[in-house]
Amino acid sequence: MENWFKKDLETVLAQKAQLPHAMLIKGPRGIGKLGFGLALTQALLCEKPAADATACNACNACNWFASGSHPDFRLLAPMSESAEAESEEGAKKGKASPWISIEQVRELHDFINVSSHRGGRKIILVAPAEALNVNAANALLKSLEEPPALTYFILISHRPHRLPRTIISRCRQLNLLPPDRATALAWLGKQGVEQPEVVLAQSSGAPLLALAASAGEELAGRRDFLRAIASTDFDPLTVAETFRDLPLERFINWMQKWTYDVVILRMLGEIRYSPDFKRELSATAQRIEPLAALRLHRKLVREQRNIHHPLNVRLYIESVLLAYSALVNPSRKAA
Ligand SMILES: [Zn+2]
Repeated sequence: MENWFKKDLETVLAQKAQLPHAMLIKGPRGIGKLGFGLALTQALLCEKPAADATACNACNACNWFASGSHPDFRLLAPMSESAEAESEEGAKKGKASPWISIEQVRELHDFINVSSHRGGRKIILVAPAEALNVNAANALLKSLEEPPALTYFILISHRPHRLPRTIISRCRQLNLLPPDRATALAWLGKQGVEQPEVVLAQSSGAPLLALAASAGEELAGRRDFLRAIASTDFDPLTVAETFRDLPLERFINWMQKWTYDVVILRMLGEIRYSPDFKRELSATAQRIEPLAALRLHRKLVREQRNIHHPLNVRLYIESVLLAYSALVNPSRKAA
C-alpha cells in the first residue's frame, strides 16, 4: 500500500471490532485503492497484528497472503489481469473479459457458506466492483444481504455510480483521496519517473496513473535506443546526440542490461532482458570478444549501483558508447 493511505488504514482498523460486513472503497482511478484494499485485507487476516492493528508481515497468515494462498481470502476480479483492473484502458483492451461473471460469484458459494479455515475472518475483495455485470451483482447481493458470520466484503470502485443502488446501500462507504501534490511528486521521483510534474498533471494528480503513463513512454524510449545501438555500424557520437536528453540512470540501466544479454547469449545461448531484440542481439553477440564485453558490463553495473553524476554527463555517455562501439567494431579501436 502507498504510504499516503496510512492514516485511512489506521482509522478503519481502529474500528475493527465493529467492522461492517460490506465496505465500498471509492475514489479516483490510479491513486492506489487496490493496494489499500489488499493492505486492509491482510491486516484483517493477520494472526499477530501490530499495536496499530496493521499486518505483521511475518505470521503464517501474512505469508500465505503474500503468496496468494490464504485459504480465507478470495479476490473477485475480471478474468483479465487484475493489475490492469483499475485502469480503464486495461478493461477496454478486454483481455479475456472485462466483466466479473455470475459464474465467478457462484463459485464463491462454498467459500461463503463454509466456516473459515483459520477460525478468523473470511474476506472477499471485489475489484473493480463496477465490473460486476447485472447478474453477478444480483447474485452477490444475496450474500451482502445476509452475510454469514465473520464473512466480509470489500468492494473497490472508481465508478461507484455504475453500481446498483441495492449494492451500494448494503455497504459502508469509504472515500479515498489522492495524495497532496508534494507527496505524489516525491513518490514519482522515487520510482525514477522523469519530469514527474508533467506526468502527474496529465494524470489529474493520480500517482499510479502517472507512473503507468511514464512507463509507457520509457518503453518506447528503450525501443528506440536499443534499435540505435543494435545497428552494428552505429556512430557513438550521433547516438549520444540523438539521446542527449536521456536521464543518466536510464542510459546506464539500458546499457548494462544490453551488454549482459550480449554476453550471456554468446556464452550460454540465453537472453534475459530483451527477448524482443533476439535477432539484433545474436548479430552483436557474434561480433564481440565476450570477456571484453563482460568487463564493460561489470563497469556499468558498478556505476549503476553508486551512481554519481559526472560533471559532464554528455562526455560520460559518449565514452561508454565509444567503448561499446569498439567492442562491436574492433577495427574502430585504432581510430
Ligand atoms: Zn501477520
